[in-house]
Amino acid sequence: MIFRAPKGTDDILPPDSRAWRRLLRAWDILAELYGYEWVATPMFESTEVFARGVGEATEVVEKQMYTFEDKAGRLLTLRPENTAGVVRAYIQAGRTGEFKGSYSGPMFRYERPQQGRRRQFWQLGVEYLGTEEVDSDLEVIELGYRFLSEAGLSDVEVHVNSIGDGDDRARYNELLITWLEARRDDLSEDAQRRIQANPMRVLDSKADADVVSEAPTPAEYLSDVTLTHYDLLKSGLRERDITYLEDPRLVRGLDYYNRTVFEYVPQSYQAAQSAVGGGGRYDGLVELLGGTATPGVGLALGFDRILLALGDRPAARALDVFLVIVDPSRRAEAQAFARRLRDSGVRCDLAAGERSVKAQFKAADRGDAAAAVVIGEEWDQGMVKVKDLSSGDERMLAAGDLASWAATSRAGAR
Ligand code: AMP
Repeated sequence: MIFRAPKGTDDILPPDSRAWRRLLRAWDILAELYGYEWVATPMFESTEVFARGVGEATEVVEKQMYTFEDKAGRLLTLRPENTAGVVRAYIQAGRTGEFKGSYSGPMFRYERPQQGRRRQFWQLGVEYLGTEEVDSDLEVIELGYRFLSEAGLSDVEVHVNSIGDGDDRARYNELLITWLEARRDDLSEDAQRRIQANPMRVLDSKADADVVSEAPTPAEYLSDVTLTHYDLLKSGLRERDITYLEDPRLVRGLDYYNRTVFEYVPQSYQAAQSAVGGGGRYDGLVELLGGTATPGVGLALGFDRILLALGDRPAARALDVFLVIVDPSRRAEAQAFARRLRDSGVRCDLAAGERSVKAQFKAADRGDAAAAVVIGEEWDQGMVKVKDLSSGDERMLAAGDLASWAATSRAGAR
């Protein structure tokens, strides 16, 4: 009997896991540069948190949640996204005012698995609570854009829209309901069910794209206040040299957004699932989950899709050097040398126990080292032989210079 990972889930093993780690580290560093501190919330929450926070009439809540009863009969759900959880935590901790948090981790949605659509998938995200200022929308969009660009996606276009809030949204919803009711028979069953509960959701239903292509869009009904917010957003994007496209039909799949919504679409990645991330403003969410009214804006990037969009790029080497010990009597010295190298930040490994030189070279290859460092006769003169495992070039180097040599060649390989 061979066990397999559940359908729609993936094992992330080396060498693929290298790109994951690299991006996750880059994410942490960038988020901190912008003042977002790391937060972690449970992978499951009371089902109600998502039912309310994401919205009853959404695809995610209706069809995609992994919901179960625990032994005490509590209804729990594996998190399909992290915004509702972070907001729940903010309220529970009694926080008020501004709060900037970043997270990364697996999310769970019961979807039909395909490329870029997994049942367990990773998201990176930030939430910026406590301000309505358009600067916060811009900061969040810029952070995601910059991350994607530094990750190697240099052709990302940000699709933006404003879906209004308060009165203008209510006015628009009413109009849209009338418009949709008049075409009820042409709509899918799901869309028909959502007309009253959540009409805007019908706009991003793929099955109904033809029918709704003529529907009125939220932007046509924006109040002056919302319009100003939207105009400032767009001029801010221009100031920041962020490539964007206004998409009047963008409403996003989750229920809690108001005003700004956005998605990141890499131009060169034209797969069925083309957005690698998105987000928006959610000024009503804290109140909806039982807190005092607090505005907020956030984004989530889909890690699996970023990697797909990046395509097959040569993975960086796993190790800078692998020590090959010619004479077993030098093992203890070699191990001490390895410790010194690691202290200087050199990624270094060596074989456990006594092995032939040939076996150690094999281990160096298996470990995916950039170079083998041979500890032989010359060691007594403080020298080592360094063999570049890609080109086969060899050179003699003072052992004391190895750390700076490794740092330089690592930077060169990047
Ligand atoms: P959403 O808030 O649903 O738009 O999700 C934000 C991002 O998470 C998307 O743009 C995707 O990159 C990613 N994502 C959402 N659902 C999945 C999934 N089932 N599998 C992989 N990535 C996903």
